[in-house]
Amino acid sequence: MTARPVGMLGGTFNPIHHGHLRLALELYERLSFAQVHLVPAANPPHREKPTVGAELRFAMVQAAVAGVSGLIADDRELKRQGFSYTVDTLRSLRNEYPNNPLCLILGMDAFIGLPTWQAWESIIELAHLVVVRRPGTLLPMSHRMHDFLVTHQVNNTVDIHTRLAGKILVEEIPALTISATQIRTLVAQGRDPSYLIPLPVLEIIQQYQLYR
Ligand code: ATP
Repeated sequence: MTARPVGMLGGTFNPIHHGHLRLALELYERLSFAQVHLVPAANPPHREKPTVGAELRFAMVQAAVAGVSGLIADDRELKRQGFSYTVDTLRSLRNEYPNNPLCLILGMDAFIGLPTWQAWESIIELAHLVVVRRPGTLLPMSHRMHDFLVTHQVNNTVDIHTRLAGKILVEEIPALTISATQIRTLVAQGRDPSYLIPLPVLEIIQQYQLYR
């Protein structure tokens, strides 16, 4: 018998917002996760260096989940040098949780781009993929990713709970149409991003005058 699955949601979290938090909480409850680790990328390989340093982005994640059971602010990517590769984070989580299934949470767009990720074929050996799709959306997919999906996809959560890794579960979740870009733009315009982000995150943005 394996232990409950541990989820991981990575991102730049610049800043973390209610879209990220609802997604993590929704999956925590639906899939009976032991917990979901929210892991800010210190040095994301796929995009420009974030305008706000990793320490402050992590502080905002910490503030957002303080007192929320099931969601964990995880700074392991801040403790590594070089690019923040997901495969290294999963190896580290695997060492910490040898007996729990691991579930990497990914949007469908990220899933489609997976072959550009470092050691992407090792990722499915370390974790299950929980691919999040907005209801009614269909994104074009390469033959290669279609085959990869068909090979690994499961239609219920049994394998996710009884195997440590190796399966893909597609979950339909209505997304809140919030993005970090939208919040940065609002703040830069001197507008109020309240209700899109938790209050403690807003307080950090104000305290450090971020995104002005
Ligand atoms: P930016 O606007 O700076 O690109 P973002 O809001 O998309 O940022 P990221 O930190 O890049 O935030 O996102 C981390 C993860 O959360 C990604 O997998 C992304 O698909 C997912 N995500 C972002 N916004 C939402 C949302 N509103 N609902 C559900 N998932 C989201």
